[in-house]
Amino acid sequence: MPIDTDYLIIGGGASGMAFADTLCTQTDATITIVDRGHSPGGHWNHAYPFVRLHQPSSFYGVPSKELGRNTIDTAGGNEGLYELASGSEVRGYFQQVLDQTLLPSGRVRYFSNSEYRNDGRIYCTLSGKVHDVSVRIKTVDTGYTGGKVPATHTRKFDVGADISCVTPCQLADIGHAADQYVIIGSGKTGIDVCLWLLAQGVLPDQIIWIMPRDAWFIDRCGFQPTEEFFDIRLQLAVNENEAIISATSFDDLFDRLEKAGSLLRLDPSIKPTAYKCATVTVKELETLRKIKNIVRLGHLKQISDGQLVLANGVYETKKNTVYVDCSASGIPKVVATPVFDKDRITVQCVRTCQPTFSAALIAYIEATEADDARKNNLCAPIPYPTDDKDWISQKFISGQNQLAWMQNEAVRNWLKGCRLDVFKSGQTPSVRTSEQDELSLKLKETFFPTFSKLKSFMDDMKAN
Ligand SMILES: Cc1cc2nc3c(=O)[nH]c(=O)nc-3n(C[C@H](O)[C@H](O)[C@H](O)COP(=O)(O)OP(=O)(O)OC[C@H]3O[C@@H](n4cnc5c(N)ncnc54)[C@H](O)[C@@H]3O)c2cc1C
Repeated sequence: MPIDTDYLIIGGGASGMAFADTLCTQTDATITIVDRGHSPGGHWNHAYPFVRLHQPSSFYGVPSKELGRNTIDTAGGNEGLYELASGSEVRGYFQQVLDQTLLPSGRVRYFSNSEYRNDGRIYCTLSGKVHDVSVRIKTVDTGYTGGKVPATHTRKFDVGADISCVTPCQLADIGHAADQYVIIGSGKTGIDVCLWLLAQGVLPDQIIWIMPRDAWFIDRCGFQPTEEFFDIRLQLAVNENEAIISATSFDDLFDRLEKAGSLLRLDPSIKPTAYKCATVTVKELETLRKIKNIVRLGHLKQISDGQLVLANGVYETKKNTVYVDCSASGIPKVVATPVFDKDRITVQCVRTCQPTFSAALIAYIEATEADDARKNNLCAPIPYPTDDKDWISQKFISGQNQLAWMQNEAVRNWLKGCRLDVFKSGQTPSVRTSEQDELSLKLKETFFPTFSKLKSFMDDMKAN
């Protein structure tokens, strides 16, 4: 049967759900969502059981529904900071958004286990049915940035016969002890697996961590919501601007950002070259530093019996070793493309590493702004970062977008009430102390000098 719809959303992951939720609130449009998976939530359906958000739940998800209870953790690595939803909470949340908000609106249809192949048809995998779809307004592509998790990616290294190389999902159910655990990959998944193994009582010496590149991490303490963390946020923003303005070179910039409290690294003697927006707390970092067997010999090529063959050398392993593949790229860097292009919207981040906030904002701008040029002016895409220098361009484009939003009255007002915006109303004290006034003034004074310094760093990057 042919389907008529105002909007066709490709993907029912976090971005598709945030987009649909906002569009549903802001317009009377009919919406059809199509997703290959069995349930909404995208990659969260394939994540390892001990996964958690890397950011407070209080500003993740869709605008119309709270996630979590907005409490502060009193134990564990995130102690003292706002709660991070678990994978199962995130999956349950998106199912509820679909069942209790989107479908009851009577304007949303959801096709699970189905695929859109850009040929005007929805292919339903299980029934084999094919539906022609006629889109009256726009097609919204949320699959452009294409994240990968260990459970679904293809390994780039060879594994010899009879060697136990597992995904983090399989590790959680492995049911026997190993003499050694080799963690392949130093991104957020690798960090999560190391912390989880240590929490299970595995000794730091039993862990071998393959780290092709060291990465800069964000201190999670610096982007906490509510008035309670206002002083920390304000001081950090000022420190960061001052670090940027005073930096004399790329190297110097990253040293200063570390001193300013913006970035953290595992080993103070090694300068990271990667940056992927991973967050840690200082407490988690101290735990990770107990792991001393860190193999910095480049990418893994092959696991054979008792040996790891890496790009720059060989590392011997014990007989009873479990290898854990954490090498999926997460969210790869893709070339930015205009968000609004005639009858197509390509959803990308418009604030650094904030996909649900970005999707919701793009939907709001779609619903309220007139033409593509105006819309794109408010939505410069920010590709996910991979390298240290991406920190600079992310900061610059994010700042440009923020400025454009503040100059647009409708967007500014919408953001004040949007639960996905960490800077929403109610996050700052109504009466400020003189110290807070002084810091706020410094923040204003350093805003444009920071911008021009970032711009000059970007010009240098283009030139080299
Ligand atoms: C361990 C981990 C922790 C994370 N923590 C955070 C965090 O704290 N905060 C944060 O903001 N982000 C976090 N992220 C990033 C996370 O990727 C995003 O938050 C978000 O889930 C991405 O959602 P998405 O919809 O953009 O992509 P996906 O989750 O990849 O969803 C896209 C969906 O589109 C479907 N699809 C694509 N093309 C088609 C097609 N042609 N036809 C049908 N279906 C299609 C796919 O099947 C998929 O279900 C984390 C990621 C990981 C791996």
